[in-house]
Amino acid sequence: MAHSCPPERLQAALDDVVSRMAARVRRGKVADYIPPLAEVDPQQFGIAVALNDGSVHVAGDADAPFSIQSVSKVFSLTLALGQVGDGLWKRVGREPSGNAFNSIVQLEHEKGIPRNPFINAGAIMVADVLLAGHKPRETIGEILHFVRALAQDDSITIDPLVARAEKATGFRNVALANYMKSFGTLDNEPEMVLGVYFHQCAMAMSCRQLAQAGGFLANGGRNPLTGFSVVAPERARRINAIMLTCGHYDGSGDFAFRVGLPSKSGVGGGILAILPGTASIAVWSPGLSEQGNSLLGTDALEFLSRRMGWSVF
Ligand code: GLU
Repeated sequence: MAHSCPPERLQAALDDVVSRMAARVRRGKVADYIPPLAEVDPQQFGIAVALNDGSVHVAGDADAPFSIQSVSKVFSLTLALGQVGDGLWKRVGREPSGNAFNSIVQLEHEKGIPRNPFINAGAIMVADVLLAGHKPRETIGEILHFVRALAQDDSITIDPLVARAEKATGFRNVALANYMKSFGTLDNEPEMVLGVYFHQCAMAMSCRQLAQAGGFLANGGRNPLTGFSVVAPERARRINAIMLTCGHYDGSGDFAFRVGLPSKSGVGGGILAILPGTASIAVWSPGLSEQGNSLLGTDALEFLSRRMGWSVF
């Protein structure tokens, strides 16, 4: 269903969100597992809304690039579904995990088949699928190329410092990949697969670029900027369904309750949220909640969805 949103009303709401968030003292805790993320200024806040008519509306630090981290899992999932179709669901489940993003316990019970493509184990499995028959460099290039085409912006890059730091500290991800390999569910060498995963997490994008890149999910699978079909409408619906149920790790239920939009978060403080039929929304504030989701980003989306009447329910 398309919601009407007059540009002046939307811009007023976005400006209001920015001034409310600027006044906030409790801003959450910036991810500190790697220096490039630990050094990000927690005072920053940006928001961008890309409407299905191709217009983009922004406020705050909407053009500042940040590390998209796990938001990249939406794009790698879309690519993998494009390559292997529904066969992907033999390799990874589609149930919410109720566990932390980097949990290893569930993998033992489920014999190396990750619960869903948005927990780390699942995204590593998706990277394995994308790597089939390629060198890591080629797969990384393919993901970046795809995201640039979606956003219609060739200036999007991978931050090499973040990629290197992810590799230097990603022992738990190494454990997850090795664990899946031990069950025989991962095809390629863990080191190669992780090379892809760490680089996709290190993509740097602004809210404007991210909202543009997510536009196809709001527009029945068609890129609103080019008019070209990215995925079939049914696939866009299903990706949105997984975002709604699994997009915020063990905070997914609470996010659906408060905001009511399919969305995906990353520990860089970014969230991509979709209002099917109307808008792709990107918000960024680096401070995180206990579950590793942007604290102010969630509050801002809750405020915006209420004010604009934007919820899928
Ligand atoms: N690079 C992070 C990790 O693998 C991504 C986690 C996230 O954004 O939630 O630990």
